[in-house]
Formats: sequence, structure tokens, C-alpha cells
Amino acid sequence: MMNQVRTRMAPSPTGEMHVGSMATLLKNYAFAKKYGGQFILRIEDTDKLREVPGGVEAIQAIIKRYGLDWDEGPGKGGEYGPYIQSARLDIYKREVQKLIDNDQAYYCFCSKERLAEVKEQQMANKQAPHYDRHCRDISKEEAQQRVANGEEYVIRLKVPEDQEITFTDLLRGEITFNSNLIDDQVLLKSDGYPTYHLAVVIDDYLMKISHIMRGEEWISSTPKHVLLYQAFGWSVPVFAHIPVFLNPDGKGKMSKRKGMVSAASFLDRGYLAEAMLNFFMILGWAKKDQQEVISLEEYIQEFEPSDLSSNSVAFDIKKLNWLNGVYIRKLSNEQLLEKIAPFVPQDFPADKVAQVLPLIQERLITLADFTELTKFFYGSISYETDLLLKKADSKELVILELNETIKEIETLSDWNLLEIEEKVMGLQEKKAWHRGQFFMMLRIAVTGEKATPPLFDTMIVLGKELVISRLKEALNKLS
Ligand code: GLU
Repeated sequence: MMNQVRTRMAPSPTGEMHVGSMATLLKNYAFAKKYGGQFILRIEDTDKLREVPGGVEAIQAIIKRYGLDWDEGPGKGGEYGPYIQSARLDIYKREVQKLIDNDQAYYCFCSKERLAEVKEQQMANKQAPHYDRHCRDISKEEAQQRVANGEEYVIRLKVPEDQEITFTDLLRGEITFNSNLIDDQVLLKSDGYPTYHLAVVIDDYLMKISHIMRGEEWISSTPKHVLLYQAFGWSVPVFAHIPVFLNPDGKGKMSKRKGMVSAASFLDRGYLAEAMLNFFMILGWAKKDQQEVISLEEYIQEFEPSDLSSNSVAFDIKKLNWLNGVYIRKLSNEQLLEKIAPFVPQDFPADKVAQVLPLIQERLITLADFTELTKFFYGSISYETDLLLKKADSKELVILELNETIKEIETLSDWNLLEIEEKVMGLQEKKAWHRGQFFMMLRIAVTGEKATPPLFDTMIVLGKELVISRLKEALNKLS
């Protein structure tokens, strides 16, 4: 049995959450639930320049829209708070002081100008830009004096020379970096804010995070973090770096240039949160029985990060569309009515929504398809007159068919499915009109479309008056 499992998601409030982040969040959530542990939400807002207004609230709102939640974090509290980094500045200062005291970090007084010059030189010499360790050997006494004198400084990590840094990634096994390739990272900035590297390590340690599952773009940061854990004398958590999604065409990292990527944008376009979560589950992972439709409960039971593929997978929209349809068809009438509400056009007759839904549920790929699939239920329709004549022997016959149908419908005393069916089908049989031709013609006349929900059900929703007026409109078109 595993020790207490504590996972976390640590988003920065710098813009809308990407679908890739939501997929990673789901893994952290499920893994914690599987082992009866906790899932922590921590806001990493140390980069004030990139923060967007309302970003912190937006993160919490989108997680909830996806039907997920956190055990500790903003709005929830917990034993290890605060869970927002800007409220933890004292903690970072206190901890980084320990590194200064035991010689694992040092004050750096280099000006921006000096650093820019060094960088330029290195570039000219075709070297990778890095800090030249100019301040690394300033004695502690001198440094403390300069700090006391009010000189501006940052604190840097004293990266050991010629050391192999190894960590285990659940997807990739052991990964080793040589410390010579690692810069003397800034840990504390001149404004008193920590850098990401310092804050993430301190917080993951103090919040007792056991497993860090995050995007693979952080792999190259991990040796820096491992060095920090070592410098503090702390044990290193387990890492799993999750591959990024590729664009739906399989080319390149999924990016804004090729379409919308925010987790919110998919819900706004009529994808169900349950379908999105299921889709995330099967990208790069498979259930043992290969089932693709998976509930959150089943996923929680079976998911293991070590079973994830370390290869990037394409964000296969076709598969997502298929899954979304599956989930839409699972909804009860009431559920669908509630979920579709934001997608119903303003001028759609409100009292007809519930009637229409069962007719189109089968054909909805996203909730937003409502508009397209129901536009003939209200407002005017338009179509090519020729469509009415398809497969008909003559125009006169179609005119006759329309006239007779109108007459038959006008005699209906009660507007119900059985009666309409009986009258209209009875008419067609009695007259021995070609079945396919007749009903296709009627469908076009009544809806303007070739593919619609069952014709008689559609007529019921439209109402007697509108059906008759559309049949008359068709007659007009032909005369
Ligand atoms: N704040 C980082 C982000 O926005 C967190 C990275 C990590 O999980 O360590 O992605």
C-alpha cells in the first residue's frame, strides 16, 4: 500500500486553462481518489507581469464546470495553506535563508546591464547563455554587508559542478542530467518574489505532495528542482511528465494557431464535460478491456500513471465528436433540456424546446447543433423548387398530391400522431402514389430539408396551422 497519496495541480493565472492542463488535472485528481488521498489546487501567481485579471477565479470556475473539485486549496482551505503563492512570500524568504546559511545559495548583485553584456558575449562566442557565476565567490560577510547597505540583489542556487542528477519519471524511467548544463538559477528575485523553481519545490515539499504529475515541458526544469530538494535535504517526490497533445492533424503541439485550445471553449461550443473527461482518459491510455466509454468511477479504479504512453497523441476531434454524441444520447429528457438551454436561439419558441429534443437527440454531435437541426421548426424555410419534383412523373401530380394532402389534414379534428399517420398514409395508399416520392416531397414542403427527424413527429411539433401554410407555400412555388 502506498503512503498517503497527495497530488496537486499548480496553474498560473495567466490566461484560460488549456485542454492539456485539464487533462493533466484529471490524472492528478483520479490518482489521488484511487488511493484515498488528497488532490490539492495551488495557484502559482508569482509572475505578476503575466497575470490576467480574474485569472484566479477563472481557474476555479473551469475546474468546477468540468465537474471536478479539489480537497485543499483556494476557497477550501486545508492544513498546509495558504494555497496561493503570493500569500506565501514569508515562507519562501524563510526557507531560502536556510540555503544561504548552509552555503547552497548565494547573493548576486549583478546589474541588468552587466547580465545583458555577459549574455551578448556568450552568444557571440556561440555559447548557450548562462550566468557566469560572477558573484558566486563573494564571501558571506561581504554579501551581508552589501545587503545591509541596501544594494539590490537576487539569490541564486549554487549548482554543484560535475554532478549527475538523476530522477525517476513514471513514464520514462530514469532520467539523468549533468549539473554542468544547469544555470545558477535565480531563486529569489529582487522584488522579494520567488521564482517558479523555488516556490514550486518549497510548496510541494511543505504541502507533502507525494506525486508530481505535470506537462512534459517541465522535464528540463526537474533537475533544477531535484538539486533544490537535495540542497534543502528533503526527499524527492515521484515525477510523471505527461506528453502534450498534438494538433488534431497530428502535426505539432496543439496550439491556438490551429483552433481553440482552452478548456472553457470546448464547453462553450457544446461539448459535455463528461465527454471531454472521457476523451482525456483515452488519449494516451487504455482501459484493460479496451472499452473507450469510461465513467469517472471506472477510471479512478484503473488509472495508473505508469501505464500512460510517453508519446504525444493527436487531439482527435472525430473521436471527441463520437464520444460527445454517445454522452448526449445517454442524457434523460430533463438533463438534455437543462444542458441545451444556453444553446437555444433566443427566437426559438420556448414551449417547443422539450418537444423537439427527443426528435433530434440522436443527431446532436454537440449541443450547439441544436440551431442547425431545428431551424425549420420556426421562422421561414427556403429550398429549391426542383426538390419538390424529385422522382415525380409530372408537376401536375405533385400539385395534386399537395392539394389532396391539405384537404385531408384540414379535416383532422385532433392534432395527434395517430390521426395524422392514418390520414396521410391512408391517402397515399388509396391513391397508390409512389411512397418514396410522396413522402420526400412532403418532407421538403414541410421542412425545406432532406434529412429531418421523423416526418409526422415533426409535423406534430410544427402544429396544424404552420404545416398547412407550408404546404400551401409549396403549391405557390409550383404554380
Ligand atoms: N505554475 C506552473 C504552470 O503554470 C506549474 C508547473 C508544475 O506543475 O510544476 O504550469
